[in-house]
Amino acid sequence: MNIEDYEVFDASMINVRNKNEKKVIQFMKELIPQFPEFDYCTICLQDVYALSLNQLTPRYTQAGTIVLKKELNDSDYRDVVEAAIESVTKNVNHPV
Ligand SMILES: [Zn+2]
Repeated sequence: MNIEDYEVFDASMINVRNKNEKKVIQFMKELIPQFPEFDYCTICLQDVYALSLNQLTPRYTQAGTIVLKKELNDSDYRDVVEAAIESVTKNVNHPV
């Protein structure tokens, strides 16, 4: 994708996207080692990443509301990533 693909009516969405992605990656690195049963395979890592981002997206869909103005803090990201790791660990999406 090009940077222009993230523009909507001349407003760039790239920072919104990148912020969530960077935070999710940051907390995956921090939190996954706390789950000894996590297998570190690509499928599971990508599942945690996608699941986390899916959880975060709805917070950005309420355009124009006060909710949107609230910056997500690190503990919000931590909760989302932690829940995603737990979910993926319990429901591994590939043959073991
Ligand atoms: Zn796996």
